[in-house]
Amino acid sequence: MSKRLLPLVPADLVVERMLPTSDRLTVMCRSRIAAPLCPGCGQPSSRRHGSYSRRLADLPWQGRRVQVEVQVRRLRCRWPGCAHRIFAERLSAVAGPHAQRTAHLGSPRHHIGLALGGRAGARLAERIGTPVSGATLIRLVRRGAPATPAAAPRVLGVDDWAWRRGQRYGTVLVDLERRAVVDLLPDREADSFAAWLRAHPGVEVIARDRGAGYADGGRRGAPDAVHVADRWHLLENCSAAVLEAMKRHMPALRAAAQPTSSTFAAETATATPASDPTASPPMTSAQRLQYEGWQRRVQVHGEVMRLHQQGFPVRHIARDLALSRNTVRRWVGANSLSCTGHGCTRSTPGGRYRTSAGSRVAETAPGSGETCAMQGSKAGCAS
Ligand SMILES: [Zn+2]
Repeated sequence: MSKRLLPLVPADLVVERMLPTSDRLTVMCRSRIAAPLCPGCGQPSSRRHGSYSRRLADLPWQGRRVQVEVQVRRLRCRWPGCAHRIFAERLSAVAGPHAQRTAHLGSPRHHIGLALGGRAGARLAERIGTPVSGATLIRLVRRGAPATPAAAPRVLGVDDWAWRRGQRYGTVLVDLERRAVVDLLPDREADSFAAWLRAHPGVEVIARDRGAGYADGGRRGAPDAVHVADRWHLLENCSAAVLEAMKRHMPALRAAAQPTSSTFAAETATATPASDPTASPPMTSAQRLQYEGWQRRVQVHGEVMRLHQQGFPVRHIARDLALSRNTVRRWVGANSLSCTGHGCTRSTPGGRYRTSAGSRVAETAPGSGETCAMQGSKAGCAS
């Protein structure tokens, strides 16, 4: 079994034993190198002084956590003049000097941190069998980030970003041509931004918000750069301006909309006396659409009943009026139009129109013998 597992462990290690449990696999290893090099003088030594166990987390296997337990030797250095009388063998190809995970595991965790950040990344890592804290993921991302960008960006986006939301904010700098974050500044100060620009000459365009901080820093750090408002802030400013204008002119807008509503009410509520003291305010746009839909339904229902009384079969009526046969059967069987879904029990401004519409059912379907129940009473509208 050890031979089959050999390719799964780093080449510098030899597998000696495996200890599987239900949720974990421990792989006992030792170094393959007979005479490790002293880190002080670089000379090989095989004089053993002692040993200790070093545990390294590795990539999960079949959903189980994997721990590589390496027996690390302590060796004596006999090279004259070397400051290291005793040294521990290095596992350079496997893990760093003080690392608690193999180099194999560092890369996936780095990418998990990049993709998901701390907390979400930690949750995913737990699910795939390589538990790690969110703080460690963030530390891996920071450690893996390039210290300096490959080239100074020509078009630079600058904005706030949260080190910790609501508590501490910094500045994110983005190369907008390459769509890549080039740096993170610890604060939002104009001085920090100006210093960064001076250290990275070549920025020609700065896309920023309308705040004074980045404007000042940009002018001082890159005097020749052109400042533009980025798209997000442009849309946000536009939206805020429209809302402000609407708020300011709302009385005038309401006054302008009043005649239209009144005209519509007068046209549709012909059966309602103008002096009705219980008259409701004009319908909203949504109520008006709902009412118009219901009016069309009343008309179609009248046509169905007319054809039915003339002796046309259900199939014929359904085909001519582009209705389902079930709808036609239901209407013919009930002999009245269902009010379900038209807000009959709701107290809406359209209530007074429904009374007149109910009258129209009687007008359009005189032979039905029965009109919508809501014509007389809201409470009885359950057909
Ligand atoms: Zn030495």
